[in-house]
Amino acid sequence: METPHVLIFPCPAQGHVNTMLKLAELLLIQNLHITFLNTEYIHNRLISLNIDDVKSISQCYPKLQFKTISDFQNKEKHPGFGENIVDVISSINMYGKPSLRDIIVSEKISCIILDGGFGDLATDLAAEFGIQLIHFRTVAASTVWIYFCMPKLLDCNEIPIRGDEDMDRIIRNVPGMENIIRCRDLPRFGTSNKMDHIILDKVLQLTQASLKGNAVILNTFEDLESPILSQIRLHFPKLYTIGPLHHHLNTMKKTTSSSFNSNFFKVDRTCMTWLESQPLKSVVYVSFGSTTTMTREEILEFWHGLLNSKKAFLWVIRPNMVQEKRLIKELEEGTSKEKGLIVEWAPQEEVLSHKAIGAFLTHSGWNSTLESVVCGVPMICWPYFSDQPLNSRFVSEVWKLGLDMKDVCDRNVVENMVNDIMVNKKEEFSKSATKMADLASKSVNPDGSSYNNLQDLIQYIRSTSP
Ligand code: UDP
Repeated sequence: METPHVLIFPCPAQGHVNTMLKLAELLLIQNLHITFLNTEYIHNRLISLNIDDVKSISQCYPKLQFKTISDFQNKEKHPGFGENIVDVISSINMYGKPSLRDIIVSEKISCIILDGGFGDLATDLAAEFGIQLIHFRTVAASTVWIYFCMPKLLDCNEIPIRGDEDMDRIIRNVPGMENIIRCRDLPRFGTSNKMDHIILDKVLQLTQASLKGNAVILNTFEDLESPILSQIRLHFPKLYTIGPLHHHLNTMKKTTSSSFNSNFFKVDRTCMTWLESQPLKSVVYVSFGSTTTMTREEILEFWHGLLNSKKAFLWVIRPNMVQEKRLIKELEEGTSKEKGLIVEWAPQEEVLSHKAIGAFLTHSGWNSTLESVVCGVPMICWPYFSDQPLNSRFVSEVWKLGLDMKDVCDRNVVENMVNDIMVNKKEEFSKSATKMADLASKSVNPDGSSYNNLQDLIQYIRSTSP
């Protein structure tokens, strides 16, 4: 039997590329051939910002190759990424199949691991070539499950949400989540709190597409989401939970943080030196991920809240996060170096595992959530959109790993929550965070659930490859 050749294709977004590159490395360690596909725009960005990492990962793994595909966007007006991800995905779905077919043929691909965000992109091609199609859903199991349940929620009139006054109504028809989720915790898109029908159609298409694949991979672990996973398994019998992927990879490689970076922004490592000068668990790490944008007012509420809390903070403010570039300068000038440091992009995994970090003020992106879980760092959640409101609800209400400031942006709330997490309720949150971090580690160590599931997945890929 020939070595399986797996094509891995992430959606063009930071969290997706990071995670799927880690999956690629885990499969490379097991000696599989990997073709890692990115859009040209993302590939060029990765190369320009991480050239040494791309070179060394290619040297380290001769069975890895990078390929590119057009994103079919107007190059002059290229708006970047994140903000136009939905357009890019639609264009690739519309025009990308011939390029994908060429790669499958020329590289003799025997299995496709496709980001679930691409929906049906490869369904027909996999059938045509008789190869396996595995969907990688980069979100939490709870998000996959709530999307799956959307038709039922519509039938029961639980959605659409009827307005702002309806936001605290409990959602009852999601098995495994009874009495946990309110309307305000549902995934949301755009600026509206309502889940409009176009978006609803899209998430339903993704669910249908995943059902048509041969298997589904989730970046989660059994102990974190077991009641939801047992519900999902009733519909997706071939489900591989192999996360937290970054921790799985680091454990397998016996390192403490990623050896290869896939950043879309230039990393500022000065923050690591600054952290060295801070006392144990004294710093609040603040980051709202790779796509969140904020208004001047919102930024100022957080800034005053952090200053008033009197706790030191390390804050990531991307250049494209605020319209008004002067604002970042203003904040820097108004913050003393001992109390706070603002950087454009941090080595987040490394930051979270630093002994000086006491809490994470996060937008509750799924990767950030998992990275915090692994390091046992309690969270203050300020979810922005998409799956984040659901993640933050699980963090606060189900796992008791932090506080959820959803839909509120107020300096007093920021100050109080920082003090609750760092001082008043420190013991309680530290205890639950340490317990969950231990379970995460157990899952990726030999004989843990994610470890065993990865072995099963590899066995499945090998046994089904022609
Ligand atoms: N990240 C990073 N440095 C930063 C901010 C974020 O390396 O300064 C990484 C973070 O570790 C995570 C990813 O970017 O892996 C963000 O993914 P997430 O799912 O949390 O949020 P998204 O960016 O998709 O909203």
